[in-house]
Amino acid sequence: MNNSKIWLSSPHMGGNEQKYVNEAFETNWVAPLGPNVTGFERDLEQYINENGHVAALSSGTAAIHLGLVLLGVKLGDEVICQSFTFSASANPILYQGAIPIFIDSEYETWNMCPKALEEAIIDRISKGKKPKAIIAVHLYGMPFKVDEIKVVANKYEIPIIEDSAEALGSSYKGRKCGTFGDIGVLSFNGNKIITTSGGGALVASSKELKEKAVFFATQSRDNAPHYQHSEIGYNYRLSNICAGIGRGQMEVLDKHVSLRREMHDFYANYFANNDGIKVLSEPNSDYFSNHWLSAILVDPNKNNGKTREDLRLAFENANIESRPLWKPMHLQPIFEKYPYYGEKVAQELFENGLCLPSGSNLENEDKKRIRQTLNVFFKID
Ligand SMILES: *Cc1c(COP(=O)(O)O)cnc(C)c1O
Repeated sequence: MNNSKIWLSSPHMGGNEQKYVNEAFETNWVAPLGPNVTGFERDLEQYINENGHVAALSSGTAAIHLGLVLLGVKLGDEVICQSFTFSASANPILYQGAIPIFIDSEYETWNMCPKALEEAIIDRISKGKKPKAIIAVHLYGMPFKVDEIKVVANKYEIPIIEDSAEALGSSYKGRKCGTFGDIGVLSFNGNKIITTSGGGALVASSKELKEKAVFFATQSRDNAPHYQHSEIGYNYRLSNICAGIGRGQMEVLDKHVSLRREMHDFYANYFANNDGIKVLSEPNSDYFSNHWLSAILVDPNKNNGKTREDLRLAFENANIESRPLWKPMHLQPIFEKYPYYGEKVAQELFENGLCLPSGSNLENEDKKRIRQTLNVFFKID
């Protein structure tokens, strides 16, 4: 049997990407602006929200950083951030010299716990500083508890940066993720649901906000014939070559979402009769996940003592990539000195959780190998 590597999530081209890239070469738009950048922004706006304002950027991390800049986050300010996430959600807080305040998850969506969020805000205010922003994440494509988080944010009038880097194509109550925050963030890194090889976008709630984001992203040039600067600038715009890949990818985004959702169903069906495995699934019909990565929790007590690490090694021996869930930020050496609010939900998810191969390009042959590896591991014939 073919034993080539099965990846967790690898780039999956639709077919027209090179056409747009070639157009860029033919017209000499080999620059961080041009028709592909404009076209890709328009495609994204049409996809997530007709009235949206999208600025294409060099990465999702750049979008989070600019989000903080746009919200006026400065040295010594406090910014609330979901602890259970990829480090790119939190790093930009430190770029601004601000202080991250980490929040635990809840068990239903694995995202920011609204109760722990409110406790944290009350405590930070009582200690003398109201947090400047809340970074909430739709992890693995699963929407966070949007209504509950927004109620708390509105009550204390704190803006939300919605980290939707993993959730393009997901929605909550019929509305696309990326459009709930004061600022939304998308990523098109190589392993995301669509890729531009590297890239991201900032979703702004107004035309003015988008224009300000593009201003900062292009070195903050004042309106003058020479180069004049009154504010700190950044070089964060997306290349017109990469944006060409993005335009091709937008043509297949919905197909990729259904294929990822099929991978989730494959695992949900496989584990339906094992009450020692929980597959991350939508809590109810308000939630629609793109299931960017399918993720499970392994309860060793109900699986003859076998842990998620045992399963990861079994996959590794079969040349199949799987990966522990994100290690919470409050447990990371670089972030552990910052305040944390909550219990041990995020930690427990990390200790028992595993991401399984989820790509939209997995073939039936790959699924067969995954199934066989699981059968051997769980001793099912
Ligand atoms: C990928 C990712 C980012 C950062 O996006 P890049 O484009 O890789 O910079 C931010 N947050 C989360 C949750 C991500 O998964």
